Amino acid sequence: MAGSFHAEKIGFTINQLDKTMIAWQFDSLKTTIETIYAFAVTDETALVSRCQHCNNVFISNNPRAKYCSTSCRNCANVQRSRERKAKKEEE
Ligand SMILES: [Zn+2]
Repeated sequence: MAGSFHAEKIGFTINQLDKTMIAWQFDSLKTTIETIYAFAVTDETALVSRCQHCNNVFISNNPRAKYCSTSCRNCANVQRSRERKAKKEEE
Protein backbone atom coordinates (compact mmCIF):
# COMPACT_ATOMS: atom_id res chain seq x y z
CA MET A 1 0.00 0.00 0.00
CA ALA A 2 3.00 2.29 -0.30
CA GLY A 3 3.25 5.04 -2.88
CA SER A 4 4.91 8.27 -3.81
CA PHE A 5 3.03 11.57 -3.91
CA HIS A 6 4.00 15.10 -4.79
CA ALA A 7 1.81 17.83 -3.35
CA GLU A 8 2.16 21.28 -4.91
CA LYS A 9 1.15 23.23 -1.83
CA ILE A 10 -0.09 22.22 1.58
CA GLY A 11 -0.66 25.11 3.95
CA PHE A 12 -1.83 24.91 7.51
CA THR A 13 -2.76 27.07 10.45
CA ILE A 14 -2.72 26.19 14.10
CA ASN A 15 -6.03 26.81 15.82
CA GLN A 16 -6.58 26.91 19.53
CA LEU A 17 -10.20 26.27 20.41
CA ASP A 18 -10.86 23.78 23.20
CA LYS A 19 -7.64 22.08 22.15
CA THR A 20 -4.75 23.01 19.89
CA MET A 21 -5.07 21.56 16.42
CA ILE A 22 -3.76 21.86 12.90
CA ALA A 23 -6.16 23.11 10.18
CA TRP A 24 -4.83 21.89 6.83
CA GLN A 25 -5.31 23.89 3.63
CA PHE A 26 -4.90 21.61 0.64
CA ASP A 27 -4.60 22.86 -2.93
CA SER A 28 -6.78 20.11 -4.38
CA LEU A 29 -9.04 17.21 -3.50
CA LYS A 30 -6.34 14.84 -4.85
CA THR A 31 -3.76 16.21 -2.39
CA THR A 32 -6.31 15.98 0.43
CA ILE A 33 -7.02 12.31 -0.30
CA GLU A 34 -3.32 11.46 -0.71
CA THR A 35 -2.44 13.15 2.58
CA ILE A 36 -5.26 11.44 4.50
CA TYR A 37 -4.16 8.14 2.95
CA ALA A 38 -0.53 8.74 3.95
CA PHE A 39 -1.50 9.53 7.55
CA ALA A 40 -3.86 6.56 7.69
CA VAL A 41 -1.33 3.98 6.53
CA THR A 42 1.47 5.31 8.74
CA ASP A 43 -0.57 5.88 11.91
CA GLU A 44 0.09 2.96 14.25
CA THR A 45 -3.18 3.41 16.15
CA ALA A 46 -5.38 3.44 13.04
CA LEU A 47 -5.32 0.20 11.12
CA VAL A 48 -5.94 -0.15 7.42
CA SER A 49 -7.59 -3.48 6.67
CA ARG A 50 -9.44 -5.19 3.88
CA CYS A 51 -13.10 -6.11 4.36
CA GLN A 52 -13.55 -9.90 4.40
CA HIS A 53 -16.92 -9.53 2.66
CA CYS A 54 -16.64 -6.83 -0.05
CA ASN A 55 -12.82 -6.65 -0.17
CA ASN A 56 -12.82 -2.84 0.18
CA VAL A 57 -10.06 -1.16 2.14
CA PHE A 58 -11.19 0.46 5.39
CA ILE A 59 -9.68 2.23 8.38
CA SER A 60 -10.46 1.12 11.91
CA ASN A 61 -9.09 1.62 15.38
CA ASN A 62 -10.16 -1.90 16.26
CA PRO A 63 -7.46 -4.44 15.36
CA ARG A 64 -10.11 -7.20 15.38
CA ALA A 65 -12.43 -5.51 12.84
CA LYS A 66 -12.99 -7.80 9.84
CA TYR A 67 -15.68 -5.87 7.96
CA CYS A 68 -15.91 -2.31 6.65
CA SER A 69 -19.52 -1.78 7.74
CA THR A 70 -22.39 -3.22 9.74
CA SER A 71 -24.05 -4.12 6.45
CA CYS A 72 -21.04 -6.20 5.33
CA ARG A 73 -20.83 -7.91 8.71
CA ASN A 74 -24.53 -8.81 8.52
CA CYS A 75 -24.20 -10.11 4.94
CA ALA A 76 -21.20 -12.25 5.94
CA ASN A 77 -23.10 -13.63 8.95
CA VAL A 78 -26.11 -14.52 6.78
CA GLN A 79 -23.82 -16.21 4.25
CA ARG A 80 -22.06 -18.20 6.96
CA SER A 81 -25.36 -19.22 8.52
CA ARG A 82 -26.72 -20.39 5.12
CA GLU A 83 -23.55 -22.38 4.48
CA ARG A 84 -23.86 -24.02 7.90
CA LYS A 85 -27.52 -24.85 7.23
CA ALA A 86 -26.74 -26.30 3.78
CA LYS A 87 -23.97 -28.44 5.27
CA LYS A 88 -26.35 -29.73 7.95
CA GLU A 89 -28.95 -30.68 5.35
CA GLU A 90 -26.32 -32.62 3.39
CA GLU A 91 -25.70 -34.91 6.34
ZN1 LIG B 1 -17.28 -4.45 3.22
